[in-house]
Amino acid sequence: RSKEEGGGQHFNYEPSLHAHAEERRKLEFSLRRALERNEFVLNYQPVVDAKDESIVSFEALLRWHSEEHGFVSPAKFIPLAEDTRLIVPIGEWVLREACREAANWPSNVKVAVNVSGEQLLEQNFIATVVGALSSSGLAAQRLEIEVTESIFVRDSSAARGVLEQIMALGCGIALDDFGTGYSSLAYIRNLRFSTIKVDRSFVQGAAADNPESLAIIRAVVAMAESLEMSTTAEGVETERELAIIRGLGCRKIQGYYFGRPMPATDARALFGRPQLQRVGA
Ligand code: C2E
Ligand code: MG
Ligand code: MG
Ligand code: MG
Repeated sequence: RSKEEGGGQHFNYEPSLHAHAEERRKLEFSLRRALERNEFVLNYQPVVDAKDESIVSFEALLRWHSEEHGFVSPAKFIPLAEDTRLIVPIGEWVLREACREAANWPSNVKVAVNVSGEQLLEQNFIATVVGALSSSGLAAQRLEIEVTESIFVRDSSAARGVLEQIMALGCGIALDDFGTGYSSLAYIRNLRFSTIKVDRSFVQGAAADNPESLAIIRAVVAMAESLEMSTTAEGVETERELAIIRGLGCRKIQGYYFGRPMPATDARALFGRPQLQRVGA
């Protein structure tokens, strides 16, 4: 995804091009120092069971508070980290930190960690996962790795090989943002994903009575069910979206309606409660 943006491919002489490149260079300079300066923090967003609304997992989401740039959105710095391969050490920190935190949670609650293609295909990735699990004491079954379809574009068999090794450890693999990339059923035929995450754009479409979105969610849920994979609806914000998604049979729900990404201490505080405080309640 990131290669299209800001790459050196097109030479249209826009006046903003230079300023854009300059800003990127500054951001990269800061990003190179962010790990050692402890500028990263993980937030955790709850994922709930669609039936009883109990917490099944949290997705770890990276936040960067830069000394020079203030808060920088992941949409901005993750592509930059991928282009510069800084995502490899940053991603290793994310894995270790997420596993360390999740080891404190009730044992039925999992943690989901996003992994970029650059990181997945890196030599030491399996060793990094094994290290994060063993140093934290987290059971492999409680770690779910989230990947997007884009990881299969460059070297699909290599990506598949790594994911199979991760599964052999006992970890789950979730297919993130499903339906937004080069969705190919071949990946789904060849790999036993634990979860398919239906992108928020389909959730929004369904709530707007868009017949195509409704049909696609219905088809994805049916396919996942018959392949014994779970489904998560991403980005559920409203009561209406929740009702529609429930009606379509998604197994798990994630979105602002049940909770925004939050600091680790706030996530821990939720375990004392029987049910999440809904936004709409
Ligand atoms: P993602 O993995 O699809 O994560 C879900 C994104 O949707 C998060 O954005 C989350 O805050 C947002 N979201 C959740 N519920 C709602 C909702 O109800 N409404 C709306 N409007 N948004 C919602 P965030 O945290 O900005 O992250 C964006 C993307 O950055 C992630 O998308 C993921 O692709 C990437 N990312 C985040 N952390 C990491 C990381 O540690 N490593 C890697 N490689 N990528 C990461
Ligand atoms: Mg994700
Ligand atoms: Mg997603
Ligand atoms: Mg998404």
